[in-house]
Amino acid sequence: MATTQPLEANLNSIRSRISNACELAKRSTDEVQILPVTKTHSAAIVELAKNAGFNSVGENRVQEAAEKKQSALVDIRWELIGHLQSNKCRQAVEIFDRIHSVDSLKLVKRLDTAAAELGKKLPILLQFNTGEDPAKYGAKVDQADVMMEACLNATHLKLQGFMTIAPLDDNRDVALNTFVKLRELRDHCSQKFSHEMPELSMGMSGDLEQAIAAGSTLIRVGSALFGSRPPL
Ligand SMILES: *Cc1c(COP(=O)(O)O)cnc(C)c1O
Repeated sequence: MATTQPLEANLNSIRSRISNACELAKRSTDEVQILPVTKTHSAAIVELAKNAGFNSVGENRVQEAAEKKQSALVDIRWELIGHLQSNKCRQAVEIFDRIHSVDSLKLVKRLDTAAAELGKKLPILLQFNTGEDPAKYGAKVDQADVMMEACLNATHLKLQGFMTIAPLDDNRDVALNTFVKLRELRDHCSQKFSHEMPELSMGMSGDLEQAIAAGSTLIRVGSALFGSRPPL
C-alpha cells in the first residue's frame, strides 16, 4: 500500500506510470506535469512536496488552503481544484495562484471582479462535467460558449485551459471517454474563439493513464503520492 511508502518511492512509481502512458500515446513526458494534491494533509506535506522539487500544490477547499498557506514554511504556488462558492471568490483570488474549478458564468464574473479589485491577473481553467456525472461539479458542455465569451471579455483572468473529473467507474473506458470529450471541447472552443488553451487538467491517481491517452497536460495526484487520506 502506498501509505507506508516514502514519497520518493511513490513518485518513482507515478513517473513510471506516466512514462508508460506517454509511450503508448506517443507523447513526450515533458508534456505532462504532476500537481501534487495536499488536501487533508498537514502543511508539513507541502514542505515535503517542495523538497521533492514541486513548485505548486493542489487544494480543494479555500479555508483549508488559507490555514495551510499560513503555516507552511515554504514558498510554493497554490492551486484550487475543488468547487468554489461564489461568496468565497475574493478570498480565493487572494490565496490561489491558479483556479482549475471555474464551473459557472457567475464565477467567471465574480473572479474577474475580485481579481480587478486585488490588482491581480488570475490564471484559470474552466471545469466541465464531460462525464455527465450528477455526483461531480463542472459546467454543462452547452455552457461552453457563454463561459468562453465571458472569459475572453474578462480583463483580469487568463484562461489557460479546461479541467474535468471522471465519474467513478470500474470500466476505464468511462474515464477515457470523459477525457476525450474534454479535449475535443477544448479543441473546438480554442478554434472557434481563436484562443490558445494549452492546459488540460485531467487524471488523478486512479485514471492518469486514460487521461494521458486523451491528452492531459496536468494530472492531479493525491493518494498515489502521499498515501490514503485521513477521513474528513
Ligand atoms: C482529491 C482530488 C484529486 C486527487 O485524487 P487522488 O485520487 O487522491 O489522486 C484530484 N482532483 C481533485 C479535484 C480532487 O479533489
